[in-house]
Amino acid sequence: MCYTECRSSCFSVFQRGCGAVNTVHHAAWTYIAGKISIPERKAGVRWATAGAVMPDVSYVVLFFGMGVERGTLHAGMLLSADAPSRWELHELVHAIFEHPLGILLRNSAHSLVFWAGAALLFWLLTRTLLSNAMLFVWGWLGHILLDALTHVTDATPLFYPFSEWTFPAFVSYWDPAYYGPLFSLVSNLLLLACGTFLVLRHYLRRKRPSE
Ligand SMILES: [Zn+2]
Repeated sequence: MCYTECRSSCFSVFQRGCGAVNTVHHAAWTYIAGKISIPERKAGVRWATAGAVMPDVSYVVLFFGMGVERGTLHAGMLLSADAPSRWELHELVHAIFEHPLGILLRNSAHSLVFWAGAALLFWLLTRTLLSNAMLFVWGWLGHILLDALTHVTDATPLFYPFSEWTFPAFVSYWDPAYYGPLFSLVSNLLLLACGTFLVLRHYLRRKRPSE
């Protein structure tokens, strides 16, 4: 695992902020996919986006919980310039990934086993594949699959808790050893292009009826 072995190179990656952007990318890609495929389902698109963010929510909760507990984050920060250094934040992020609760939540939320259980339950409750609850589940699946294609040394076990087997992808969303910076660049450019397309389409559609 990178988290314990290569602190200095991780630090340089963390400094560039690649890691923190990942969850935002999940949200953005799912929102764009929803807006293109089911534009009439506004609430549904939001549910799918929530599903795509959910697997990473534990990081945010632990970030603030452990940050306050360790003293890295404190109320005084808001009033003074006494902000934690990038190194302190980096240590906090590593602590989250190494914390037993962090590992449990991360592995569970990124496991196809837990996903299939939730999918079956929501389908039994709603009996349709495109209910809002099921769209949440599809967004969640998209997160798991996207992560499986973009994590190499930090891949999570897809069949947790039954198996520790991980699928190392060919490309990492952050690791320079596996095209991380190139991936980030291409992904950001594509996001920008898709975002521009959606804004233009929205603008043109609103303009049309008045003409
Ligand atoms: Zn993830």
